[in-house]
Amino acid sequence: MIRNKSQTSVGFIGLGNMGSNMAQHLINKGHQLVVYDVFPEAMTAMADKGAVIAQSPADLAHRCDRIISMLPTCAHVKQVYCGDNGVLSKVKSGTLLIDSSTIDPQTSQEVCKASQSKGAVFMDAPVSGAVPAARAATLTFMVGGNASEVEAIRELLLCMGKNVIHCGAVGSGAAAKICNNMMLAISMIGTSETLNLAKRLGLDPKLMTQILNVSSGRSWSSEVYNPVPGIGENLPAGNDYNGGFMTRLITKDLGLAQTAATRANAPTPLGTLSHQLFRLMLNNGYSSKDFSSVYKFIQEFDDKRMIP
Ligand code: NAD
Repeated sequence: MIRNKSQTSVGFIGLGNMGSNMAQHLINKGHQLVVYDVFPEAMTAMADKGAVIAQSPADLAHRCDRIISMLPTCAHVKQVYCGDNGVLSKVKSGTLLIDSSTIDPQTSQEVCKASQSKGAVFMDAPVSGAVPAARAATLTFMVGGNASEVEAIRELLLCMGKNVIHCGAVGSGAAAKICNNMMLAISMIGTSETLNLAKRLGLDPKLMTQILNVSSGRSWSSEVYNPVPGIGENLPAGNDYNGGFMTRLITKDLGLAQTAATRANAPTPLGTLSHQLFRLMLNNGYSSKDFSSVYKFIQEFDDKRMIP
């Protein structure tokens, strides 16, 4: 039986583009929040909104019995949970650990095993929807874990999202997420090169977007997260591709998909090509830009064309 934990503190580690918005919703919905990030400014901003600052992941673990993490990569997740002063050094037995970072299924399973040895329960719960969905609390959570434990965190996750999908055992949420992001990368590149071609053929990208969005070429990238500046509202494209989902993070996700595909011996020709294209962007100054800047990157090449 899992007891009702609604009155206890919730811990949140990783207050970046996604985590800061997710943590804000937990505060808005009345949760007592304890936060930790390596950037003191990120913690101060949350403290101004009512959160309590922890000194380390271990300190946070000592104060909370539900902990959510939203960190960049596998290495960060391992460090935060298993490193010196990590969550597992002070975790209380029965604590529910929810990692929403996009990492590989193996890392989730490893951290799960280490958590079990401390009597804690680890679940992978990566999200889809990007920063606009984190702001609007409309994220989709793909959760790997035991069914009754997933049910125990459903209400908490629904403070930050609108879909909680149980994918199977620990690691299956991460597997679903890297498949989704491979599709996302392919569709963002497709949307970007399509809108650039439309422009070169004399069509206004805004008009072309309207056509795509009522036609078979429609996608999340054309409709919700359009890569052309000035088409969508409050998007990174309108802010010189700042904020949002950094190119280095989608490149990391495509690398995870490639490793998983190699292990599974599954053919992913467009996933491989997308990985290479985003890696080229990393080497050309786009690392911290939102991934929709692939539209700008394609235009840069187009601008250098020799034949008018
Ligand atoms: P981000 O880089 O903006 O935020 C990560 C935060 O983690 C930063 O504030 C950083 O200071 C903090 N951090 C790093 N190391 C830490 C440590 N050892 N201890 C505590 N805090 C630490 O990244 P993001 O865009 O918020 O993405 C986070 C995760 O969510 C990534 O795995 C990403 O792939 C995934 N994701 C991102 C989006 C998106 O649109 N941005 C969407 C879905 C999933």
